[in-house]
Amino acid sequence: KKVLLKHFIPAGAPKETDMELVTTGTIRLRVPEGSTALILKNLYLSCDPYMRSRMTKHEGASYVDDFVPGEPIAGFGVGKVVDSSHPGFKIGDYAWGMTGWEEYSLITDPKLLFKIHHTEVPLSYYTGILGMPGLTAYAGFYDICSPKKGERVFISAASGAVGQLVGQFAKQLGCYVVGSAGSDEKVNLLKTKFGFDEAFNYKKEPDLTKTLKRYFPDGIDIYFENVGGSMLEAVLYNMRLKGRIAACGMISQYNLEIPEGVRNLFLIIGKRIRMEGFLVFDHYGSYLEFEEKVVQLIKEEKIKYVEDIVEGLENAPVALVGLFEGRNVGKQLVAVAHE
Ligand code: NDP
Repeated sequence: KKVLLKHFIPAGAPKETDMELVTTGTIRLRVPEGSTALILKNLYLSCDPYMRSRMTKHEGASYVDDFVPGEPIAGFGVGKVVDSSHPGFKIGDYAWGMTGWEEYSLITDPKLLFKIHHTEVPLSYYTGILGMPGLTAYAGFYDICSPKKGERVFISAASGAVGQLVGQFAKQLGCYVVGSAGSDEKVNLLKTKFGFDEAFNYKKEPDLTKTLKRYFPDGIDIYFENVGGSMLEAVLYNMRLKGRIAACGMISQYNLEIPEGVRNLFLIIGKRIRMEGFLVFDHYGSYLEFEEKVVQLIKEEKIKYVEDIVEGLENAPVALVGLFEGRNVGKQLVAVAHE
């Protein structure tokens, strides 16, 4: 079974019908003679917001390659090696990284595939807290935000894969942490499970600038930006002098044909704000250090993690589409097989 992208989509929200589940004939679970390939049995697949961009034809004008219509969707996942002639992977190893939305993937160039060193934690964690989104939170917070104890931190899309971890890293450092999310259930999670000081449902707030003023009467030192648009606009009014903004993502813009402008961007001058975009792809060099640190935090129960798991490859399209409607509660992933 494979999930294909049927066609490129222009602007607008992705739909389940843009993707298609197909069943092919029998496949040979052996790597080609003379290759250095491997075959992964996919166990968990990750649904990530950046995948939306790959559904639109950019022809090299984006930082990620376009998907190929008629081919399985590519994405991060976790799998078990069932055949290998690659020196870095042997049969029976578990790995996470770039794979395909299919039951088995032939990986000819495993440069974005990492061996899993800790099978004592749930393997699904390698789609999130121990995988790409986890490293995004870690690198984005510690490297880009230059955080200090006691600073005031605001995180948007705070209950998602990245946000829930950023908030906990910030709390561990002794910061005051506020998150926004799109439902009362998510707000409750932020306060009761992830230990945020405060949280609010941005969909219920008529004036985000005033809302932020309420939670940050003295202003925001660090904004971890996941959504863009009107939230960024409101944040800029509330930033402190020399504040820092880690521009991680702007999901509110991904389905728009023409991105919204930010009318008050000039505020970054007078307030001497440093706003820095970053991509996790530049930070894989610190993955092993990250993995060891976070595995330890998980074992010591010093970090909490919430996943939203749908069962079955056939449900992957609906799960991916749900990210853009805020249906996921925690890290969205798909369980394809249980070993
Ligand atoms: P999430 O698990 O947070 O899922 C996406 C969430 O975004 C939804 O649940 C929803 O939460 C919110 N959302 C959806 N549409 C909108 C909208 N129109 N306006 C405001 N919020 C919206 O995703 P991730 O944690 O995986 O990703 C978070 C951000 O980080 C994304 O922008 C992503 O692109 C970015 N990212 C960047 C990376 C990098 O290398 N720079 C790497 C990985 C992720 P809610 O219900 O709270 O609105």
